Amino acid sequence: MKNKMYGEFGGQYVAESLMPTLIELDKAYHEIIKDPKFWEEFDYYMKDYVGRETPLYFAEKLSAKYGPRIYLKREDLNHTGAHKINNAIGQIMLARRMGKTKVIAETGAGQHGVATATAAALFGMKCRVFMGAEDMRRQALNVMRMRMLGTEVVEVRSGTDTLKDACNEAIRTWAKDAEDTFYVLGSAVGPAPYPEIVKRFQRVIGDEARKQILEKENRLPSAVVACVGGGSNSIGIYAGFLDDAEVKLYGVEAAGKGISTGEHASAMSAKTIGILHGMRSYLLQDADGNVKTAYSISAGLDYPGVGPEHAYLCQTGRVTYDAVTDSEAMEALLELCKLEGIIPAIESSHALAYLPKLCKTLTKDDVVIVNLSGRGDKDVNTIAGYINEKGGL
Ligand SMILES: *Cc1c(COP(=O)(O)O)cnc(C)c1O
Repeated sequence: MKNKMYGEFGGQYVAESLMPTLIELDKAYHEIIKDPKFWEEFDYYMKDYVGRETPLYFAEKLSAKYGPRIYLKREDLNHTGAHKINNAIGQIMLARRMGKTKVIAETGAGQHGVATATAAALFGMKCRVFMGAEDMRRQALNVMRMRMLGTEVVEVRSGTDTLKDACNEAIRTWAKDAEDTFYVLGSAVGPAPYPEIVKRFQRVIGDEARKQILEKENRLPSAVVACVGGGSNSIGIYAGFLDDAEVKLYGVEAAGKGISTGEHASAMSAKTIGILHGMRSYLLQDADGNVKTAYSISAGLDYPGVGPEHAYLCQTGRVTYDAVTDSEAMEALLELCKLEGIIPAIESSHALAYLPKLCKTLTKDDVVIVNLSGRGDKDVNTIAGYINEKGGL
């Protein structure tokens, strides 16, 4: 990515005062990607700390139900329960290389905050996580986790007291403290080079999955499916297959209560272009160009935008994007519990919920990989609420 753009998407839409910081980051990143010692150390932490490689599990009963041979890439088995730790460790290792002693992050549901707090503890970095007051109340357990890990959770009281406000506060703090502070970004979004950095640290998912499927099936998959919030677990698994034209790639966003209700988180559904968090991409916007609040039952998918490379992959047609509703995702979640004994995250269940539609186009000779981005233990309260509302299991 030479001009920092993916087609017409991406870029660096930040205040002039932050440009030197992005340039410093870009330079440091391009040094470490060429340094075998950095990757040796990254691989060490992925293996001995995170528990990689994660299995590629053949879901026999799910396959019997839907037709093709379905494999699950088990990111739910990572330390801290999702793919986010891959990126948090990578970025904090980069921060350390740059001589930074402090890290900051923003978090909505708390998952990226917990991953960052974990990696900060591991590398002895001072860590502050910005979180909206309303989100802190809703995600009290993750706030406690971060504090136990030695992180200071900073309550943000402005705007709607949620993620958007926490992002703004984190960026303000970064602009002020960039001398010794690194901003750990949690998804494949933000100004360049962040989307590229996040993809590089998450491509471990796709590289493993490619090797594993060749070992197990002696062929490449017909299709790879992942859920899309900002787009980090999806771009990570796609990275292993983007150059294989015969592998179809699917991204599943949150349709919430239904696209037509307006209460959803599908930035790809309207395809309106705007600028948010330093990038140009598809965003949820009203007629006046104001960013709309995203809604999803899944706290990890309710982001109003999507990473710039996804907007590009959508425009070029390399990846097919679609969306499933809250209830479709929740039913897929409950189905995986019963069929395979795995409780998936609600986010990941959006990818699973796409199987009925996808598999109609496939036969039993096809091979599908679903990225199971995380485990559902964190979601048990929301799941209980859903089950109660529908009157029991
Ligand atoms: C945060 C999260 C997501 C969504 O983020 P992406 O950057 O789109 O991957 C998906 N699954 C889980 C389990 C998450 O925690």
